[in-house]
Amino acid sequence: MHKVVIIGSGPAGHTAALYTSRANLEPIVIEGIEPGGQLTTTTDVENYPGFPDGIMGPDLVLKMREQAERFGAKYIQREVTGVAFSEAPFRMTLDDKSELEAQTVIISTGASAMYLGLDSEQKLLGHGVTSCATCDGAFYRDVPVAVIGGGDTAMEESLFLTRFASKVYVIHRRDEFRASKIMADRVLAHEKIEVLWDTLVEDVLDVEKNEVTGLKLKNAKTGAQSDLALEGVFIAIGHKPNTEPFRGQIDMDDRGYLLANNTRTNIPGVYAAGDVQDKEYRQAITAAGSGCMAALEAERYLESKGL
Ligand code: NDP
Repeated sequence: MHKVVIIGSGPAGHTAALYTSRANLEPIVIEGIEPGGQLTTTTDVENYPGFPDGIMGPDLVLKMREQAERFGAKYIQREVTGVAFSEAPFRMTLDDKSELEAQTVIISTGASAMYLGLDSEQKLLGHGVTSCATCDGAFYRDVPVAVIGGGDTAMEESLFLTRFASKVYVIHRRDEFRASKIMADRVLAHEKIEVLWDTLVEDVLDVEKNEVTGLKLKNAKTGAQSDLALEGVFIAIGHKPNTEPFRGQIDMDDRGYLLANNTRTNIPGVYAAGDVQDKEYRQAITAAGSGCMAALEAERYLESKGL
């Protein structure tokens, strides 16, 4: 029986691990399928306080992990596939069928990339279609590519891709970006980037060849269709929370985000931190902050129960 099990290993999970390990609660962190979370697929992080020259996303999460391990946090390279939270102690089943029991649980499983939902997009995933420029950008040297989306992720990915690609099209369904002004301005000013406004992706070509040769596009205002030749498609249209194993066990909203009040879920002793419960701010620093809150809540809960 563990005092604290933390599910997920992004900034929220690592921070919860740091605080609970320093409180001698010997936390166990189940790392999940993408250890380190979304920061591992990002490049320069310029808005995490304490790093005036910026820091690479993977380096930042690695430092967070090392800091938690220094105080005794233990990491398990597994994924949680099911939970039984109706009564304490809380039980979790892992992907190797092993089980864990805990007096408190902190859920920090984050969110994952969303896709357009086109058949061709799914068939060409890993064959020219991807959601991670940092992972795959270097494969697209001196060829044209497209980034789909108009948020900060799309801006960041398109700027990163200019290091490799001959040309980067940013394809957005509206006529203004959702992204922050500073990021949008950088994109609009870049000579390698061309923005296609009011443009919908109808199909990714060419499934028969099992490689990306272009996109079939449609203008959202005029309905005019066109083909665009390129070799890589980077989908950057947002994220969905990773809450599948908790369905029916914890209250969540209609999009699957866990409902939490100051990290407290509807089950006393079970806390939610980071993007899994935050569809509004979704920053590394807010995730880390809520990981700290969840840890303090778990500590108080254990104390109140005399555990
Ligand atoms: P967002 O939800 O902010 O943006 C998603 C974008 O994709 C929107 O422009 C949206 O269009 C578009 N989109 C959504 N669904 C579809 C679809 N089916 N077809 C076509 N387009 C679609 O997600 P992000 O991942 O960009 O950002 C998430 C959060 O992370 C934000 O808060 C952002 O600020 C933050 N972030 C910050 C960074 C930084 O500061 N360095 C870097 C990356 C992210 P529409 O606008 O029409 O809704």
